[in-house]
Amino acid sequence: MQSEGAEIRDVHKTSCCIVGGGPGGAMLALLLARRGVSVMLLEMHKDFDREFRGDTIHPSILEILDQIGLADKLHEIPHTKATGPTFQFANGPFSPFNLKRLKTRFPYILIVPQVRFLEFITREAAKYPQFKLIMHANVQKMIEEDGVVRGVRYLGPDGMHEIRADLTVAADGRFSLLRRLAGIEPIKTAPPMDVLWFRLPKLPGEPEISGGVFGGIGRGRIFVMLERTDYWQSGLVFPKGQYQEMRAKGVEEVRKSIIEIAPRFAQHAEHLTDWQQFTLLSVESNRCPLWHKPGLLLIGDAAHVMSPVGGVGINYAIQDAVVATNVLAKPLLAGRVSDADLAEVQRQRELPTRAIQAMQSFMQRNLVANALRAQKAISVPWQLRLFVRIPILRNLPSRMIAFGLRRVRLAEP
Ligand SMILES: Cc1cc2nc3c(=O)[nH]c(=O)nc-3n(C[C@H](O)[C@H](O)[C@H](O)COP(=O)(O)OP(=O)(O)OC[C@H]3O[C@@H](n4cnc5c(N)ncnc54)[C@H](O)[C@@H]3O)c2cc1C
Repeated sequence: MQSEGAEIRDVHKTSCCIVGGGPGGAMLALLLARRGVSVMLLEMHKDFDREFRGDTIHPSILEILDQIGLADKLHEIPHTKATGPTFQFANGPFSPFNLKRLKTRFPYILIVPQVRFLEFITREAAKYPQFKLIMHANVQKMIEEDGVVRGVRYLGPDGMHEIRADLTVAADGRFSLLRRLAGIEPIKTAPPMDVLWFRLPKLPGEPEISGGVFGGIGRGRIFVMLERTDYWQSGLVFPKGQYQEMRAKGVEEVRKSIIEIAPRFAQHAEHLTDWQQFTLLSVESNRCPLWHKPGLLLIGDAAHVMSPVGGVGINYAIQDAVVATNVLAKPLLAGRVSDADLAEVQRQRELPTRAIQAMQSFMQRNLVANALRAQKAISVPWQLRLFVRIPILRNLPSRMIAFGLRRVRLAEP
């Protein structure tokens, strides 16, 4: 980090300074600019192309993009669709949810590389003169005066710059610097697993996987595969704390797990030869007790990190952005954002976040933890099989994953 005394090259003013060009920050910038609010979006990387962080666009986001006329355009990007996973258990296949039955124009998860999605959103935002994107802007300091956050300082390739803003939004992800500087400490839960993500090739003549997602369980591991346009996005879920042991055993250990759980992918597993092919997702789940302080709002992973169950992190970050736009666009245009406005964003988003985290925790305790403890194939409890057969109950998990506790819509003026 630069020292306190680093020379400031220039000072800019904007209504809303958003730190972090992930799904939450980029979408908030687009939606606010669309409402005429001047926004600056600061992203520390020089482009959006970086390590895998999930590529899932849920029905709720597709409906919101449809509201602003962008859903069809997003579908022009090469994609695949997933309607729900089918897990192979000792007593047969089991699908915990199926989005196909939902009443929506988009009864599926659209799978688009996150880099393409972020480029798409920021390209659309750039059509509004109120929007400014600064890449390679590494925010290092929060400006606070008389207990109110007034902006940030960032380090660009040419030195330090200052942005002054009526509102600063921390959309800077799970390791949020602004959250730490604001002294906000998240309450953590400890999901029992971690995940290794990697790609497997598509080989000639492969069967299509029903619902776009396959899952298998065995020897204390869960193997998942998501169909992509030209490869399989694959994940190996294993008990937390085992990473170093697996790393020491090397790629062979991962190959062995795949072959044991899903022998039909043995040939695919041969393409794993180097540990560099893996990305570790150290699974966390947390929620901040407070999402704001005067002049500052936390959204997305900065406010709540989601467990990967259901793959909802992107969905919830974008829903936060939509609610923040609904509540804050007018006060931002008037140049008066009160602490009560910021509290209203948290009020509308906290319950849905708690609800999905409770559901994830239930699945982790009752399905994932059992599967990870077992040393052989396990069966699905009969109660769960019954649950997914009862029409009024079976759509609940799909609805929670697709939309959350309640559908979030853009409130158009
Ligand atoms: C390996 C992995 C796989 C995942 N898979 C899925 C999935 O399949 N589906 C799903 O929904 N979710 C998935 N997630 C979670 C998902 O990535 C997050 O929930 C989601 O991206 C949160 O969006 P966000 O905008 O809040 O934060 P992020 O996407 O984390 O974006 C934060 C941005 O802030 C930038 N930033 C950070 N600090 C600074 C700074 N000081 N200055 C400037 N910029 C800064 C970062 O570079 C980043 O671009 C996965 C996560 C990981 C790590």
